[in-house]
Amino acid sequence: MAKYFFFSGPQSGNVNPTLAIAQGLVQQGNEVIYYLTDEYKNVLESTGATFRRYDSVMKNSFGKSQTDKQDLQVSAPWINSSLVEECEIVLPRVLGDLKAETKPDAIIYGQMALWGRMLAEILQLPAVLIRPTYASNEHFNLLQVLHNTFYNEEQKQERSATFAKANKEMHDLCKRYDIKPFPVTDAMDYAEPLTLVTQPRTFQYEGDSFDGRFHFVGPCILPRPDSSHFPFERIESKATLYISLGTAFNDKSEFYNMCFKAFGDTPWQVVQSIGNRLKLEQLDSVPKNFIVAPHVPQLDVLKRANVFVTHGGMNSVMEGLGNGVPLVVVPQSGEQMLSAQRVEQLGMGLALHPSDVTISKLQQAVEQISNHSSYRERARSLQQDIKSAGGYQAAVDAITTYIKGGASFAKQRY
Ligand code: UDP
Repeated sequence: MAKYFFFSGPQSGNVNPTLAIAQGLVQQGNEVIYYLTDEYKNVLESTGATFRRYDSVMKNSFGKSQTDKQDLQVSAPWINSSLVEECEIVLPRVLGDLKAETKPDAIIYGQMALWGRMLAEILQLPAVLIRPTYASNEHFNLLQVLHNTFYNEEQKQERSATFAKANKEMHDLCKRYDIKPFPVTDAMDYAEPLTLVTQPRTFQYEGDSFDGRFHFVGPCILPRPDSSHFPFERIESKATLYISLGTAFNDKSEFYNMCFKAFGDTPWQVVQSIGNRLKLEQLDSVPKNFIVAPHVPQLDVLKRANVFVTHGGMNSVMEGLGNGVPLVVVPQSGEQMLSAQRVEQLGMGLALHPSDVTISKLQQAVEQISNHSSYRERARSLQQDIKSAGGYQAAVDAITTYIKGGASFAKQRY
């Protein structure tokens, strides 16, 4: 059995897709040691992995909306100096531990955890990369597409300056550890010899152009804790509309109030998640046919939903389509805009630009989807692709085969 060191960026969008993989490896008798921040201790330990803590500089730079208005969040603070600072924190922590224990057999890391890639290089170990969003290659490059599509000139310059500063810092840090320097932007476009992508190939832009390094295993979802407190009886026998803007950019009272007006006092039973940044009292009065909560058991609600109005976060898109539910996507960030376009392109739903959302457009989109069975049929076809992709079992099998096959640092790079 193997010993793995596991890393990911300390944000739920990055951690969640890795949990089932960690659990699957543990269940096969492997030792999984996962370095993360305190808030993930319980959930990580529940997978059977060993939790080792560190203090992050990154987590606070995520998830702050710039505005309550309906507009696209273009300058997502993903790639900047805090990634390098995080490396400076995690590397000594892990290397310190290794003075008293044996090296792991391999490193598994999520895309933002550049410290995982650095450790693989420092320790000369094979590494597996988990990509919870779109993969990039010479035919589709996520950063490039976002840069070209969603940023104005001023924002482009600001981004380029941020990248250049962080790249220089990363270069210096790599030199200090005596490894080959690489840019922080690799967080979005590097590939290890085994790169696991948590969406099916059919959803990936230019999916057929990705080579054998990329395993499109689809969403890796861990069953969630008990959701019996939710009033499922209210949605059991009614056409159900589920609305959520996810966990990061969800403080949008204007949007929630618009949904009240669009779907209040209609035959829809609506479930609306509003996140924990806003208080219910900050919204207009809740229509009778709505269940509104800061957090709802999304996977269980989706099993019963007819239409999902979502911000288009990759987890939500995969969870919706994984249940065969067509989507109305109201993206809050550039990457979500790409998912909105992809959903529309594949006929699995409709996209609404956030600055364009009105009560009647929301109504029309939901009506169109519920009146035309083709959207549900296409969503169900992706549901099948997701099943065939294999999820976390496929990820665990791919890792095991890779390591048993004698993967080594030298083999993978030279
Ligand atoms: N989620 C949930 N209940 C809620 C809202 C969100 O369980 O009321 C979960 C959802 O199932 C998904 C995650 O939170 O797994 C949101 O991730 P996503 O990538 O969609 O968006 P983000 O929150 O990262 O913007």
